[in-house]
Amino acid sequence: MTKQKQLYEGKAKKVYQTEDPELLIVSYKDDATAFNGLKKGSIAGKGVINNQMSNLLMQMLEKNGIPTHFVEELSERETLVKRVSIVPLEVIVRNISAGSFAKRYGVEEGIVFAAPTIEFSYKNDELGDPLINSYHAIALRLASPEEIETIKKYSFGINELLKAFWKECGVTLVDFKLEFGRLSSGSIVLADEISPDTCRLWDSETGEKLDKDRFRRDLGGVEDAYQEIMRRLREHIK
Ligand code: UDP
Repeated sequence: MTKQKQLYEGKAKKVYQTEDPELLIVSYKDDATAFNGLKKGSIAGKGVINNQMSNLLMQMLEKNGIPTHFVEELSERETLVKRVSIVPLEVIVRNISAGSFAKRYGVEEGIVFAAPTIEFSYKNDELGDPLINSYHAIALRLASPEEIETIKKYSFGINELLKAFWKECGVTLVDFKLEFGRLSSGSIVLADEISPDTCRLWDSETGEKLDKDRFRRDLGGVEDAYQEIMRRLREHIK
């Protein structure tokens, strides 16, 4: 399978058509943005890490019964995926308070929740991805009630699998963002990526941040953090 016409260029990835209408090639860039594109930069080697990490995690999830868009890793930065139409919701699962949750409710970061939470944002750059509840998502036909139930079930299942996986790497999974898509058959699969760009990952011992917050908050050591989290993942799956 080879790259044909470029379909789309996003903040961190490019997407190409292939000879097969049901398959696309995703190419990961080193570009990084934050705060709805206001902060721009580059993280050397990020594209390679996000591609490889996302693929390893999606294969782990597939083995555990979660359908994903993953087909085959083609190179360091490129992956063959199933073509989906993206459900325009960012699905955020949280185990510990951080980021916009801590800000919204005026609480400190690091509170371990009584139970994991889920929330949705409406994917719309012009509006700045506003929070949306499931009734509003259904009202606007962004997803059907059945799709919302499937997305919730998969998301909490993914949380348990990822939490256990990262724990064995000495990493605490604080929160993460998922995106889902519909195959041409209509069935829902996990799409987009799972990477330090889309997860908060804290060292279990020291609490050190090993994710994109180092870039967002100008904490320094951004490249090192991405390398370190990938090293731990590799060490664990060896
Ligand atoms: N997240 C993401 N893309 C977004 C917004 C959030 O991948 O556009 C991820 C983020 O990395 C974190 C989780 O979703 O792991 C929760 O983010 P939060 O709502 O706290 O927003 P933030 O503080 O990142 O603005």
